[in-house]
Amino acid sequence: MRGATGKNNSDLTEMNRSAVMKILQQQEVCSRADIARQTGLTQAAITKIVASMMEMGIVSEVGIITGSSDNRRSIGLKLNADRHQIIGVKFAREMFALGVFDISGKMYTQTETKFPLEENPQIVLSAMKKQIHDMLKKYENVVSIGLAVPGPYLRDEGRIAVVTRMSSWHTINFIEEFKEEFQKPVFIEHDANAGALAEWFFGGHGQSLHTLAYFLVGEGVGCGMIERGRLFLGVQGSACELGHVSVDVLGPRCECGNYGCLEMYCSASALWKKAQKYVPECLPGENLKGGETLQSGDACNAIFEAARLGNQKALDVVREIAEYIGYGCVTLINGYNPDVIIIGDVVSQGGDLLMPTILEVVKQRVIPELHTRVQIKISNLQVDPTLYGAAATATNKVLQLPSMFSAAGKWGPGK
Ligand SMILES: [Zn+2]
Repeated sequence: MRGATGKNNSDLTEMNRSAVMKILQQQEVCSRADIARQTGLTQAAITKIVASMMEMGIVSEVGIITGSSDNRRSIGLKLNADRHQIIGVKFAREMFALGVFDISGKMYTQTETKFPLEENPQIVLSAMKKQIHDMLKKYENVVSIGLAVPGPYLRDEGRIAVVTRMSSWHTINFIEEFKEEFQKPVFIEHDANAGALAEWFFGGHGQSLHTLAYFLVGEGVGCGMIERGRLFLGVQGSACELGHVSVDVLGPRCECGNYGCLEMYCSASALWKKAQKYVPECLPGENLKGGETLQSGDACNAIFEAARLGNQKALDVVREIAEYIGYGCVTLINGYNPDVIIIGDVVSQGGDLLMPTILEVVKQRVIPELHTRVQIKISNLQVDPTLYGAAATATNKVLQLPSMFSAAGKWGPGK
């Protein structure tokens, strides 16, 4: 079936579970026949996948329902969402955020903690762990924890290769820090990959999606790519590191060792620097109300606000940033041929100001035949895509590693 997300191949079981999960997340109750039709998988394949998900305790039968298209009566299925909660943790340059979600994506609570850039990493990690312990006490149905960290993240080593402006974090081994801290498994993912998973599971982009690119434009710049439900990772997990692709090979040296990296031209920090140079009068003072230090997100929002009010210099700064985001999109389209690019994180909050320039750059530069098939959007998730993505990372692992569940639907000990 063209455009369907499922595959009839036993090697692709995890992708198929992810496709079934997406349908159950988006439709409260549906039948096996509904799922078969929407995924393009055979009824027999769906019966098998649903049986494994029932054994995991993720899916239950809920009595007889009448099919929406054929009026046939069949057994309804639903996710046991609230029985499987996930803690998502977003770690960023000057803050970390925690959220409790269930596997359908519903959020129960969210907290945010800011810290100064120069803070000792161990102090930040201790505060983060304490908050997670507190949430585990409060939410008894948490089965897993997902953590999203800035990239390039070397997933086998557990280390971030380059964290611009945060060199003291370079030696922190996130796997070692978290593997035995809690009684629950912790899964760690690069922030852009996490955002891509959030868009895939919760973004409502439709079942027929083939290749989704999540273009993170925040404190850092990166990209997560999902093809047919599976992350494109590369050998060390840092594939699609768009922020460290040169847009000017003779440009200034980046902390990664390359020259003229995209991240230096369109990140939140780049926007802030340009604003300090060209429109300092539009920035709030260094110290905000309550003694908090100005962060690049606040600076970006101040410039977007000035631009919306028609300040020409602010509009020029925003346009220049948007051009570089456009160059990033051209690289993504020519290099990876996605059917959708979703732009998210801090800088995307200027979406309405950025999009006309981004689309203009893409139209002028991209291979015309590829241009007709790609959509470029600003993320419209109601929750921060990286935090949501941290939860989606753990949800995705639940689907990939069902053997970690016992028949009772709980995680096995020590995993
Ligand atoms: Zn670089």
